[in-house]
Amino acid sequence: MTVGLVVQKFGGSSLRDADRVMEAARKAIRAKHGGNQVIVVVSAQGSTTDDLIAKAAQITAAPSAREMDMLLATGEQISIALTALAIQELGEKAVSLTGPQVGIVTDSTHRKARIKSIDTRRLVEALDGGSIVVLAGFQGVDELGDISTLGRGGSDTTAVAVAAAMKLAGYDVTCEIYTDVDGVYTTDPRIVPDARKMDAISYDEMLEMASMGAGVMHSRSIEFAKKFDVPLMVRNSLSDAVGTWIVPEAEWMGEFPVCGCALAVDEARLVLEGVPDRPGVSHRVFAALAGANIAVDMIAQSVGSGGRASIGFTVLNSELERTKKTLGPLVAELGATLNETGKVSKVSVVGAGMRTLSGVAEKLFQALAADGVNMRMITTGDIKISVLIEEDAPAEEPAAEGGEPVKKAHLESRKAVRGRKALRAVHAAFGLAAPRKGAGVPAEAGGTGFKVRPSPLVVPATKDREAAIARLEGMEDVLVSGVQLNADQSRVTIHDLPDKPGNCSRVFNAVATGGILVDMIVQNLTGPGRAELSFTVPRADLTRALKRTQDVVQQIDPTCRVVGDSDVAVLFVLGVGMRTHTGVARTMFGALAARGINIGMINTSEVCVGVVVERPRGEEALACLREAFKLA
Ligand code: ADP
Ligand code: ASP
Ligand code: MG
Repeated sequence: MTVGLVVQKFGGSSLRDADRVMEAARKAIRAKHGGNQVIVVVSAQGSTTDDLIAKAAQITAAPSAREMDMLLATGEQISIALTALAIQELGEKAVSLTGPQVGIVTDSTHRKARIKSIDTRRLVEALDGGSIVVLAGFQGVDELGDISTLGRGGSDTTAVAVAAAMKLAGYDVTCEIYTDVDGVYTTDPRIVPDARKMDAISYDEMLEMASMGAGVMHSRSIEFAKKFDVPLMVRNSLSDAVGTWIVPEAEWMGEFPVCGCALAVDEARLVLEGVPDRPGVSHRVFAALAGANIAVDMIAQSVGSGGRASIGFTVLNSELERTKKTLGPLVAELGATLNETGKVSKVSVVGAGMRTLSGVAEKLFQALAADGVNMRMITTGDIKISVLIEEDAPAEEPAAEGGEPVKKAHLESRKAVRGRKALRAVHAAFGLAAPRKGAGVPAEAGGTGFKVRPSPLVVPATKDREAAIARLEGMEDVLVSGVQLNADQSRVTIHDLPDKPGNCSRVFNAVATGGILVDMIVQNLTGPGRAELSFTVPRADLTRALKRTQDVVQQIDPTCRVVGDSDVAVLFVLGVGMRTHTGVARTMFGALAARGINIGMINTSEVCVGVVVERPRGEEALACLREAFKLA
């Protein structure tokens, strides 16, 4: 018999005061009376975590990560006790448990620890004893027995990871994430008031949205959801309204090029200029960063000229100093320079339909150009496009060394003026506020009619507890699911494009009106006031794409050079957690470097890393990446 198990997670604002705690307790009891077993995962109340960080800041500017975890974990400990008391007060059995008590084992990277395994024994015992289990989110214990935390917003990850573990142990699990909004919106409703609640979003879309700044879910929680196929619902803790399902991709999702957009404001941009354009160089750069556990977000390596390329990339503001320190020696050795630019915001659009529908880039760039926005950097992924925007405000105080970004960075930062404005412009340009399938079709219009598509389990369930535990070993390890080679691509590069709002938009408008599907796009500032823009198109369309590009560039500035290269191949490594797991880029670039294969262009996202290599070496590159990621 499969047992119905509901995992409910309540965020900080949903537990803000005694009334809210009682309300959460009532929801848990209702689920129990509905015939389910119930695990409640709780965050710290209200702004407790921020307050604790502020307390530490009164004592030191450079707190040790281990002690910070000791401190921050107390917030969730208060919540479990209060919630368990509330459930008991309402007449039901409840037991509170901390992460270490349950055996949520993590690595020792304090403040951003990754879950290695979860022991379900204690949970099962308590549930079988008839209790509602109240579990502390965000925390675990490392192999030394020290308390660890998973990073800001990490309670989502605890909830989904526990749901995944219980699913593997044979339970029929549902996971509900209760928060202060009705679900996942087309963008942050606090910035764009006409944002629309979605009925459903795919794991991949949510992964990209979350890692591009949509703070409603911790991106790592979606890695678990996808890997272990745990359908989730994000919903409002103050109502019974149906929220947003986060589910495997359904066919209809591919009909929409863009499902949502997001803003991130806590990144810094660095440019490594004058890098020798030869195999192994990117590998050394990103291996050094991976070695220091610094996650790189956008990477745009441009084609370069005269044997020198430049690599632009972004890291979290809080990691800026560490990044500079880490790369210092290598930069000197390569004879390159490492420059940091002013404060930036990043606007991204995400949508499963982007894989097959053209014109998204063009529309995005046009919306930004119309808004007078100048793009510092552009990168694309399989299902997302990100643009980096320069803010005119002076750089904010850098976050404390090794710290995590504040949870609601975009709300607290009043300075991301251009970013917010750009987000609104993009939301409007894609008509995201309008009802449509998936995004709030009113019930009277017949609903959306979609069903959750059953997907084969990535990791099959088992009733055997030992076997289940064994499978959870390394449960948060990166999952690389495949490598693809597209040898039918060619590349167009524009050198010395004047860096003015509207230029990119004009180029892509010209290409899109020719019905040409642009795949990878990389734009990087190269010299003062000049950018290099490259993109790939199907080889069959190269001549047309070149002609259209040359014509439009001629009007912009006849001195720019347009170069076509039909001899390229594009390789994609697909999976989950590609960006947050710093080792992926290292393994990938390392494997290619070991074979002496030069990388012409790089693009990264949470679900895909793409590189351009010379076509004659495409097959060899594919084979070596398959081997590096141990894919059959
Ligand atoms: P909790 O404390 O419940 O974990 P969070 O603050 O982490 O809550 O997440 C909820 C907040 O996420 C919302 O109040 C909203 O401002 C913000 N948010 C950002 N992007 C989105 C989005 N696309 N959809 C919904 N909420 C979003
Ligand atoms: N309390 C932690 C934080 O504020 C974890 C969470 O809320 O998910 O980041
Ligand atoms: Mg949250």
